[in-house]
Amino acid sequence: ADSVALDPWGSSTIADYRALFEEFGIEAFEELLPSVPTPHYLMRRAIIFGHRDYDRVIEAMREDEPFAALSGFMPTGDPHIGHKLVFDELIWHQQQGGDTYALIADLEAHSARGLSWDEIDEHAEDYLLSLLAFGFDPEAGTLYRQSEHREVQDLSFELGIEANFSELGAIYGFDGETDVSHMQSVVTQMADILYPQLESPKPTVIPVGPDQDPHIRLARDLATRMRYFGVTTAYASFEADPAELAHVEAAYEALADEQVRCGDAADWLETHGEADQPGLAGAIEKLQAAGQEPLRPRVRFLDRNATETAFEALIEAIDGEKRVYDEHVDAFDLDHEAAERLAREIEVENGGYGFIRPSSIYHRFMTGLTGGKMSSSIPASHISLLDDPEEGADKVRAGTTGGRETAAEQRELGGRPDECPIYELYAYLLAGDDDSYAERVYEECTAGDRLCGACKAEAAEEMETFLADHQERREQMRPVLEDLEIEVRP
Ligand code: SF4
Repeated sequence: ADSVALDPWGSSTIADYRALFEEFGIEAFEELLPSVPTPHYLMRRAIIFGHRDYDRVIEAMREDEPFAALSGFMPTGDPHIGHKLVFDELIWHQQQGGDTYALIADLEAHSARGLSWDEIDEHAEDYLLSLLAFGFDPEAGTLYRQSEHREVQDLSFELGIEANFSELGAIYGFDGETDVSHMQSVVTQMADILYPQLESPKPTVIPVGPDQDPHIRLARDLATRMRYFGVTTAYASFEADPAELAHVEAAYEALADEQVRCGDAADWLETHGEADQPGLAGAIEKLQAAGQEPLRPRVRFLDRNATETAFEALIEAIDGEKRVYDEHVDAFDLDHEAAERLAREIEVENGGYGFIRPSSIYHRFMTGLTGGKMSSSIPASHISLLDDPEEGADKVRAGTTGGRETAAEQRELGGRPDECPIYELYAYLLAGDDDSYAERVYEECTAGDRLCGACKAEAAEEMETFLADHQERREQMRPVLEDLEIEVRP
């Protein structure tokens, strides 16, 4: 397949989802499906089609261990039925026992899309009302606005130290014209993604459309960079030989003696500069001679504080460590997971973040009712959750279909539900949890037993009911939202 551009602020339509698997390392969801305890219908119907590291989240779910789900909403317009996918995904994870976070990406809306704060306030309220109306439990979960959240801001500042302009340029196509606030909003988004792990590391899933994948990849990279990843890889042999635990302590102490222990590395380099490089190299050698793997000082300190010579010496030491590690991998049947868990515990004990790389799941985009991509800027292409129910029904009746030229042809050849935005309405939304309803529509369509006029009329009626019910629930949620006192302005 041709190269697929993924641009979170662009309007690229993704024609071939499979290309994503190959090009960006997104894995197929169907392989995981059997291990999901009670899969959501979006999973069962392959609308959620891909993932990164979602196995971790399923495992936590199954083992009754902590996990989290988070999604941000950029309040640039009315929430529409495409957003309902993400609302559903969040709410489902909350119902499965996850700590669930929904945030209003107001900084991004303001900087990347240029919305005024008044517009943002209005749309933010609409998103939150719909989220609550669909069943998000604000007592169990967390709702916040980016601009209001001090801890997120602080974390974003820390993460910003790890990201630089060339990197953002390569990922997002930023150039000399890109304003600083837009870049800042990216780093804030990274902080959002890692925020659920701030108190303690846990598997975290971010449900997204595939166009948001650049954010996921950057967040996963940053999560790694914030780790003392020498520690992470150092004691992989723990499981092979529990006595190795003692080595962890020993290695730690030895390095602490040399003042290169984790957070101290920067100060150490600043005070000692290149003159004391032999000290560091000596410590590492000592550890290696004792059959212990040295702990690697945090690489992030290298670019900021190291002199060139120090930098080279450290890189060499790190390469050495990597070799030692690789040898161990060959020598024992290593349990990486156990090692990583242990390393993370050590890291957190020592004041580090211990972030687990965030997981993601990817859902298909809904096709617009007019064909093409569903877009907030083309009213006829989407149904807003705020549309008057009758008007919503009219849009369904006016939508394009996967039907044949004539009724006779349709009866003979059957319709094409796979290319039909109306069928998508059934599968993504109107059939709800009832698989048999979606299947019946599909089968009747392909068999030629269903004609588009009647099919659209049925969908239109369902849509009218859906919108009326939803809007009624939104109104019931108004006092709940008011009580939440989510600040509306930075
Ligand atoms: Fe689409 Fe329904 Fe027509 Fe089939 S019968 S092509 S599902 S509108």
